[in-house]
Amino acid sequence: GVAHVTQPKLKLEDIFVAVKTTGRFHKTRLALLLETWISRTKAHTFIFTDTEDVDLHSKGYNMVVTGCQSDHSQQALSCKMSAEYDGFMASDKRWFCHVDDDNYVHPEALLSLLSAFPQDGDIYVGKPSLDKPITAHELLKGNATREVRFWFATGGAGFCLSRQLAEKMAPWARGSKFEQTSATIRLPDDCTVGFIVEKRLGISMVHCPLFHSHLENLLLINHRSIPHQVTLSYGMFENKMNSIKVKGRFSKEEDPSRFKTVHCMLYPFTSWCP
Ligand code: UDP
Ligand code: MN
Repeated sequence: GVAHVTQPKLKLEDIFVAVKTTGRFHKTRLALLLETWISRTKAHTFIFTDTEDVDLHSKGYNMVVTGCQSDHSQQALSCKMSAEYDGFMASDKRWFCHVDDDNYVHPEALLSLLSAFPQDGDIYVGKPSLDKPITAHELLKGNATREVRFWFATGGAGFCLSRQLAEKMAPWARGSKFEQTSATIRLPDDCTVGFIVEKRLGISMVHCPLFHSHLENLLLINHRSIPHQVTLSYGMFENKMNSIKVKGRFSKEEDPSRFKTVHCMLYPFTSWCP
């Protein structure tokens, strides 16, 4: 019947993958992603940075050079998230996913996760960074504030929004609105997304354990579950490298993030895999 007008099956190319990076990480962090997972998602992956890179541009990557400041300030990062959102809105893609430049994305796992949701639903999916909702003090007119609690998906683990939901967010997210909303709660970009979805729209985030940031102990991920994980990460934690544990031909010195090892496990026919 009419209620069941089936949408065509979701394809990987329907997913807009936004990667947030900065000039000084192009040769270090970004290069590793280009060699690994982005080699399989190049056409629908968009790299949001603050520095022109003729080399990357000439290789055909979708580069978006924002006019945002190149620092780690709340404002600079909200500016980049805002550009990612606007970039998605201007595209014809069905899902928006954000990741950082220290994330590995397993494209097939991402596709199977998103395919399981109603394709015309209001979906915000990711991993909460805290075990309880965050408390914010929303600035109201006349310097008054109001306490608000909401869940948000940690940006460092990656998260996704369905197009239907992204469209509803526009009054608080489009153009300069995103940075204004972020200033209203004085919290970072990823919190701002949670605030808009949960408090402005009243839609609950879907908590998903398949997204991972380096704020969690990555050693705890069972190696047999790696093919099912949607994102992975790496980074320093208490002066030690926090990375997933996975055996392969690359030593920890050759592949400290373990991303090359994971990539060769998932795609063994890659030209540079041992
Ligand atoms: N980043 C950025 N500008 C900066 C610093 C960082 O756009 O000046 C980006 C960086 O490329 C990454 C994200 O912000 O995608 C998080 O940075 P990082 O992993 O260094 O810090 P974390 O917040 O994870 O500790
Ligand atoms: Mn990080």
